[in-house]
Amino acid sequence: NAQMPYSPQHYLPTPPTTSPLFRNKEVTDLDPIADINIHEMIQSIIADKMEDEAAFFAADLSAVFQAVQMWRQSPMGERVEIFYAVKCNPSPPVLHLLSLLGLSFDCASTSEVTQVLSLPVKPNPKRIIYANPCKPASHIRAAQAQGVEMMTFDNADELYKIKRLYPQAKLVLRMLTDDSKSLCRLGLKYGAPLSTCPGLFAVAKQLGLNVIGVSFHVGSGCKDPMLFADAIWRARKVFDMGKSAGYDFTLLDVGGGFERATFAEMSQVVRDSLDLYFPVELGIRVIAEPGRLLVSSAFTLATHIIARRRAIPSGIAMPSSPKEDISEEDQGNEEGTDVMYYINDGVYGSFNCIMFDHQIVHPYPLSLGHSPTWAVPSFPPPPNVHLPVDLSVKLGYVENEKASVWGPTCDSIDCVRETVKLPKGLEVGDWLGWGEMGAYTLCAASTFNG
Ligand code: PLP
Repeated sequence: NAQMPYSPQHYLPTPPTTSPLFRNKEVTDLDPIADINIHEMIQSIIADKMEDEAAFFAADLSAVFQAVQMWRQSPMGERVEIFYAVKCNPSPPVLHLLSLLGLSFDCASTSEVTQVLSLPVKPNPKRIIYANPCKPASHIRAAQAQGVEMMTFDNADELYKIKRLYPQAKLVLRMLTDDSKSLCRLGLKYGAPLSTCPGLFAVAKQLGLNVIGVSFHVGSGCKDPMLFADAIWRARKVFDMGKSAGYDFTLLDVGGGFERATFAEMSQVVRDSLDLYFPVELGIRVIAEPGRLLVSSAFTLATHIIARRRAIPSGIAMPSSPKEDISEEDQGNEEGTDVMYYINDGVYGSFNCIMFDHQIVHPYPLSLGHSPTWAVPSFPPPPNVHLPVDLSVKLGYVENEKASVWGPTCDSIDCVRETVKLPKGLEVGDWLGWGEMGAYTLCAASTFNG
């Protein structure tokens, strides 16, 4: 719970324990290789819950740790510093771990800055970039009071505002770049087109403001690594425009948009483009603002089946959801569904990622007929869940049926999956798990319908 008052006791592994979660192993503080299987952990929580049906998240922070390691060991790892995008998942344990790992932060509001500066290991405010090009005046004043120096802009009014409120700020121009291959096209809202950059630099110079560099964002959930090459090439042009205006930029911010599936290629593309357009000898500091990449796979959501109905007759319109990322096997055919499940989290809650972040979520049964599913062979678990092989073999084949999965509110848009194959025998009171739920989920959940 992001709102939970912060206390390290909430998540730090306890000293050696007899809990089955830790398999009687010695678990040291933040030991990344401690053998804690998140699936077992969730099963154990469910077993302890008895009558408590509340949906819950389980987080495997070692996945966050491993994502940071992956970044650091990647081709761009040595050159590109991480400023974690807090908005993506501001859970206190995540922020605390990242601060312990020496990361810096991208904040988008005063409350994010305050949260980061309240961490037990308080980062230097100079390690925060206020990466929101359109800020309320009060937030700019607060940034100054909190010692945050770096902030982005993409328009002249913002420059006048900053001149009035915080003229010493270190400014970073957010330029527009091609985000057409991304799930969330941030360029629709932010980013100065290249043609406007010389004018903006001229205004900044006239106001005596300190512009230190350039940032961009290729869009969240970027599918095409080559967009980074294009953006870094554009950034070179903007650096040159800055030079003509009398600035000598020292910072390049390559933003977020990184995804696990394409990370290896993206990292190589960024590295090669930097070598080409911003070689090390120039001494340019390069930072990035990854969000999704670091947290997505670390969080699993467990939801309770609160109701079940035989499916509505086919022919009744269902809310549509994007289908490209759903395998045919998973979708079933188009002739409607056999059964409708209602769960206790939906698109107004943690599954807001379906609406706002265009995510497609994949359920797997955590229990079947009230028995834990250590393995149901017909259900490949999400990549971060490792089921014991012996049990997979012991359990027989479970027949599937086509289902739709709905959230708890009285709104028909609250559909989590329109069609998905789930095993026959799921009952009210069983649990469904959802992997890859760490990015843009709990941070934007509402309490609609109470
Ligand atoms: N930086 C900025 C300014 C953003 O707006 C976002 C996401 O909206 C991010 C970074 C993080 O992007 P991602 O989670 O795709 O890495």
